[in-house]
Amino acid sequence: MEKKEFKSESKRLLDLMINSIYTNKDIFLRELISNASDALDKLYYRSLTDKEVKVDKDDLIIHLAFDKEKRTITITDTGCGMTKEELEENLGTIAKSGSLAFKENMSQEEKVDIIGQFGVGFYSAFMVSDRITVTSKSVDSEDAYVWESEGVDGYTIKKAKKKELGTTIVLHLKEDTEEEDYSKYLDEYELKSLVQKYSDYIRFPIQMEVTHHHLKDEEKKEYEDVLETETLNSMVPIWKKNKNDVLDEDYENFYMSKFNDYDKPLKVISSSVEGMCSYQALLFIPSHAPYDYYTQDYEKGLSLYSNGVLIMEKCSDLLPDYFSFVKGVVDTEDVSLNISREMLQEDHSLKLIAKNIESKIRKELGEMLKNDRENYISFFKTFGVQLKYGIYNNFGQDKDKLVDLIMFYSAKKEKLITLKEYIDHMKEDQEKIYYASGASIAKVAALPQVEQVREKDYDILYLTDYVDEFAITAIQEYEGKKFANVESEDLDLESDEEKDAIKKVNEDNSDLLEEMKEELKEVSDVRFTNKLKTHPVCLTSKGDVSIEMQKVFDAMPNQMGIKAQMVLEINEGHPIADKLKKLYQEDKEQFLNYTKILYSEARMIAGLPIENPTEISNLICDVISK
Ligand code: ADP
Repeated sequence: MEKKEFKSESKRLLDLMINSIYTNKDIFLRELISNASDALDKLYYRSLTDKEVKVDKDDLIIHLAFDKEKRTITITDTGCGMTKEELEENLGTIAKSGSLAFKENMSQEEKVDIIGQFGVGFYSAFMVSDRITVTSKSVDSEDAYVWESEGVDGYTIKKAKKKELGTTIVLHLKEDTEEEDYSKYLDEYELKSLVQKYSDYIRFPIQMEVTHHHLKDEEKKEYEDVLETETLNSMVPIWKKNKNDVLDEDYENFYMSKFNDYDKPLKVISSSVEGMCSYQALLFIPSHAPYDYYTQDYEKGLSLYSNGVLIMEKCSDLLPDYFSFVKGVVDTEDVSLNISREMLQEDHSLKLIAKNIESKIRKELGEMLKNDRENYISFFKTFGVQLKYGIYNNFGQDKDKLVDLIMFYSAKKEKLITLKEYIDHMKEDQEKIYYASGASIAKVAALPQVEQVREKDYDILYLTDYVDEFAITAIQEYEGKKFANVESEDLDLESDEEKDAIKKVNEDNSDLLEEMKEELKEVSDVRFTNKLKTHPVCLTSKGDVSIEMQKVFDAMPNQMGIKAQMVLEINEGHPIADKLKKLYQEDKEQFLNYTKILYSEARMIAGLPIENPTEISNLICDVISK
């Protein structure tokens, strides 16, 4: 029998699993039980939609057994099973592992992180086993097959004898070592408590033969031990339980096993609604972004149940894009079991539920921002981009819902604040909400134009996410205050005298400025300014497209040729201004060289590339060696 190799990334993950860097080994059981439960869900759903498949509800069970001598644990389900191809596909590779690159020299924490983000799933069984066999008979196949693997070396698949539908997984436990006691799992009490801890909510019975100490003879006080099948879990879906009867830990365990996360959720939202539409929802905000969150591969959605029966794993219609990070389940009797996916989209009850859920999440986030700021900031740092994106997406139709949930870095407070907080602390004479954008807080803070506004003791929002300015442009104004980019030319902060004075300087030097503009084809204007305090030059923009926005457009794959209208501003109070005026009279060639150098400096400060670096470098050398 030829051994097949695992796909390379799966192999590395397996290697990590086998060498057990993941500290909580207990979870292997909940992972396998959770897979078994999914398989039962799938078979049951199939029986509702496919007349060919007949299932007796009472036959849907998960069975657990162990054998001390053979050192095995066996998990059997009567679910949908796997075909030969599915065994190969599902157990030979990790779903979508292609999107993940294992890096060399990763620290242990990073490895754990990656494993967790994958959804450790089936592979976690290798933390405790040195050999695993999976025997499965699928609803879609006449034959049964057995998959077997001893770890990284690969796996084999061959025909097997199994009549009943479903899957049997046998784990051959590793030998105990000084650090690890694997034999502890070969124990009734241990397995029972693991099931109760991690898998209590599973809707199907998890059964095991359990020893019961029976009184045999009342008079003689004689006892005997008999084996009896016992259901270990309560089988009530956790979302159907009363909130007060559920421990935080239970919710967290449910989340981690259902959504394959190694970390607790940041927030649990449980809601039960009766009325126009009735449903129970149990929602979670993850504490970190899934590894594929910001890729095309990520699928949003909530698991949709109809009275306990899973209808759809990821129902995307239940979540708006801006809350795509939310995980969870929704259970309602208002949606029919046999509804097709196309019909579901148009379903009135579902639309109503989606609307309710959206506002519930929004309300909970608002409260978290108010009452639990530290957690909110942690949330916002992870998923804030998504909210800001939601503000300008769909032509800003949702902006009012989200505007009070977003935060920006305040120059004054040196931390994230909301727009409301900005307005509340505005100075009396302040008309606008100022912002400046750039690649990092430090870079924005160093922008020449920031100085003038800060000098007036006005706060400035420092924007460092590429979506920020688009969001601000979509918001347009907040509580009647308009936004002003400090990098755009017209801030209107000067007094009338100052304005007149600089106007005169510009008029007196119009020929000089015209000639500079002539030389610099890309700028739409060149002017003297009195708003720069210490810096010699800066670039500002006219019109709707700022320099930062242009950078975003430039980085897009299909460039639309959207350009900012740039203005080169020269500090009228700086010695360079006099130098320019002098050269304009005495040495035209040098005047043009200075023009090019100053423009390049301004581009550099704005974080724009210099198109002709060697030419500029030579010019600078010419000038400084004179
Ligand atoms: P995940 O459960 O996150 O998809 P796993 O590695 O745990 O990842 O499992 C991979 C796939 O193998 C599952 O999605 C499922 O299709 C299949 N699978 C695993 N266990 C079973 C089982 N007991 N019965 C049927 N299919 C299973």
